[in-house]
Amino acid sequence: MSIALVIPDRDLSRLVAALQQHLPEVVIEQWPNINQPEQVEFAVVWKQPAGSLQQFPALKAIQSYGAGVDSILRDPHLPALPLSRIVDPKLAMAMIRYLDAVLRSYQLRLDQFARQQQLAQWRPRGPRPINHICVLGLGELGQAVAAHFVDEGFSVTGWSRSLKQLAGVQCFAGTDGFPAAVAAADLVICLLPLTSLTEALLNEQQFALFKKGAILINVARGAIVDDRALLAALDSEQLQAACLDVFSQEPLPAAHPFWSHPKVTVTPHISAVTNIDTAVNQIVENYRRSQAGTPLLHQVDSDKEY
Ligand code: NDP
Repeated sequence: MSIALVIPDRDLSRLVAALQQHLPEVVIEQWPNINQPEQVEFAVVWKQPAGSLQQFPALKAIQSYGAGVDSILRDPHLPALPLSRIVDPKLAMAMIRYLDAVLRSYQLRLDQFARQQQLAQWRPRGPRPINHICVLGLGELGQAVAAHFVDEGFSVTGWSRSLKQLAGVQCFAGTDGFPAAVAAADLVICLLPLTSLTEALLNEQQFALFKKGAILINVARGAIVDDRALLAALDSEQLQAACLDVFSQEPLPAAHPFWSHPKVTVTPHISAVTNIDTAVNQIVENYRRSQAGTPLLHQVDSDKEY
């Protein structure tokens, strides 16, 4: 029996060493150099090439190496097996730190002062008023983020598929709840999973429901945002600014208008990176569960796609 790591284009030496330490009796193989595909019973995957898991006839379960599973579910040849994802309080902490830093930089108008510096312009201004925050997606990350901003004294609304009850957060759900969730928000944070229902969800119609001059932060997946609609909303001043950590195509192509747009801040998908120690603990636990035939931790609902 063995575990296959199907995680292209990454140095996996730390992950392999940590797994081997926990599971010395198990062979760990790295795609594409799988010597005994018929022995593979558990696969850890991230952006796997389509069809790559079909070569493992004894596969019992699939483990995402991250919190999202959209890149895994996109594979038309994905075996119909239990799929689980990483859920990590440290990931939520990293996301909170990123979002808090971005919010504070907008409050201080650091984006505007950076542009003024390019032009040697000395124009002092007071802080930007940001009082109301909307969090789209109230899952593992969204709930932690919403709770943080409630603690920081902001007025917080949240939006999800099923209605939540969260201390201090005014919650809305479903298509009908979207307008009220975003209506008063100075800053909207996207923490939705990318699914067939959320693809291009943030489009011209939805931006028109935002408060005029709102700021968007997208830390979820790029394809949830319609890029052209976002650029149009920024140019028409319906939106004041956008901070984007995720993109439909990554790396963001050199010619993409986001790179040079004066109201867009680009970060290269670094807001919250999988913590190797937490990931290894969950991978090991799920490997053992798959061997024992018991339900995996943090299993994905394939109908909901998250
Ligand atoms: P969860 O699966 O825990 O939560 C998803 C939330 O989105 C839930 O509240 C869910 O509603 C809601 N949701 C899903 N579909 C819809 C819909 N159609 N309409 C309204 N609400 C919807 O995800 P996480 O919080 O763990 O992560 C969110 C996403 O963040 C990940 O999918 C990933 O893409 C991204 N991410 C980005 C990282 C980065 O570095 N930039 C790092 C980690 C994650 P309900 O509660 O009712 O099910």
